[in-house]
Formats: sequence, structure tokens, C-alpha cells
Amino acid sequence: MSDTTTMAGTGLQISGLNKVFRVGRKSVTALQDAELHTEQGTFLSLLGPSGCGKSTILRILAGLEDPSSGTTRVDGKSPRELRRDGAMGIAFQDSALLPWRSVQSNIQLPFEVAGRPVDRDYVSELIELVGLSGFEKAKPGQLSGGMRQRVSIARSLVMKPSVLLFDEPFGALDDMTRQRLNLELLRIWTEKPVTTLLVTHGISEAIFLSDKVAVMSPRPGRIKTVMDIDLPRPRTPEMMRTPEFHAYVDEASDLLFGTDEGGSGGL
Ligand code: ADP
Ligand code: MG
Repeated sequence: MSDTTTMAGTGLQISGLNKVFRVGRKSVTALQDAELHTEQGTFLSLLGPSGCGKSTILRILAGLEDPSSGTTRVDGKSPRELRRDGAMGIAFQDSALLPWRSVQSNIQLPFEVAGRPVDRDYVSELIELVGLSGFEKAKPGQLSGGMRQRVSIARSLVMKPSVLLFDEPFGALDDMTRQRLNLELLRIWTEKPVTTLLVTHGISEAIFLSDKVAVMSPRPGRIKTVMDIDLPRPRTPEMMRTPEFHAYVDEASDLLFGTDEGGSGGL
């Protein structure tokens, strides 16, 4: 592994990232000196209480927000280059579907945007993967929140992106669907490790899926610690019952809820 770590510009490279929002006369430091570095194909999760800047990091990486200072690169590409190359799959909490388009046509939209022929077989495969067979022609307004979320997850995968940015995409899902999608995501990811950044509230989920878990703290938003999750791959649900797994969960919980900074919580 070490021979690729030193390759400049691979993986996730977040350097000296600051973001200050001004609202009227007040300013909010959403991010202070954020540093995160991973190798290409690393699965990294962000854990932290509400308001610690998780979404801000993702939005900056995706080019939806400009940093106040600092730089980001994913697999050597700036946000603009990632967008230009269609290399990025994004799924946010808000499913952001086009209401007048069917499930199927929402999922195939990225092909149209990129001016490429639609891979209908893969679209069908993804519809099946996210458990929406039979709903191909339904409009978002006819679906539940969890189903809309699954459409947006399928859409994020349809171009087989080399970078995945997920901002709590499983938040609105019931536990069983969430678990199933986690396993499917792992399967897809194992076939082709994709540089991934997942924001989640689920400690177990973060540890189960990730190579690294970055724990953040709020006000100002900072990266407190990056944990290396040294569990073998492929990961299996049985691993969640091992002492090693529980030790990671305890460590992350202590970092999140520990009183070492005298914080009053914030979740
Ligand atoms: P998280 O995703 O961890 O819950 P966010 O990244 O959404 O946190 O927000 C971090 C901080 O920045 C919060 O205090 C939030 O209120 C503030 N913030 C985020 N977006 C804006 C914005 N567009 N304008 C002003 N403040 C914002
Ligand atoms: Mg958020």
C-alpha cells in the first residue's frame, strides 16, 4: 500500500480548509483548518454532531461552495474538473429529483447531461439494486421519502463514478433498507474501490463501511481525529459482532461524546 501513498494528487486531499459564513453582521466559522488526506479508492466517513461542518466539506469538494481559504483535490482533480469529467457521484440528504421525470428517467439523467448514450441495462440493474423494480414509471411525488432517496443513490452510481460524495443519503431509510443498501454499496465498492466520502450519523455504519473515520467537533468545525479502521475486507455483517468492531465503536463514541473538551454535546 505504501508505494501509492506518496503519489501526489491521489485520493482525497483537503488542505488548510477554512470556511466562514457571514450572515448579516455575524460570522460563523463552519470549518477551521480542516486537513484530510486519503489514498485513491479509500472509503472515508465523517462523523460529528450537527453543525460541525460535514456538509460544508462535501459541498466544497463538489464545487457547490467556495472555501474561504485552502484547497481540495479528489484524485488530483479540482471541484471544477470533477464536475467537467462527470467523475463524481453525489447523493445528498435531500434527494433533489426532477419531479416531472419518472424514476427511470431521473436515474438516467446523468447520461443525458454528459451527452452519452444511456446504458439501459445498468439503469435497470441499479433500479433492482435499490429495490424499486415496478416503480420505473412512477414520479417522485408518488414515492415515499425513503424511495426517493433510493432513486438518488441509484442516480449517483449510474455513471460508475470514480468519486462518491454521500451526505447522509441513508438518513430517511428504515433500518432494514439501510442495512441492505450498505451491503450493496460495499459490494459495488469492493468490485471497484471508489474514492468515497460518506457523511453519516451512524457510528456502526461508518466503521462497518470505512477504511478511515474522521471525527469532527463543532464551533468551530474541526477534524478532531482520523481513525484507521483496520478490519479485513470483504466486510461481512458477522464482523459487527466481533470484539474488534465493538472496540472501534467505543473509541468513536468516546471521541464524539467524551467530556475531554468539556463540550455540552450538541447532537
Ligand atoms: P453539518 O453538516 O455538520 O451539520 P454544516 O456544514 O451544514 O454542518 O454547517 C456548519 C455550520 O455552518 C453551521 O453552524 C451552519 O449553521 C453554518 N452554515 C452552513 N451553511 C451556511 C450558509 N449557507 N449560510 C450561513 N451559515 C451556514
Ligand atoms: Mg449536514
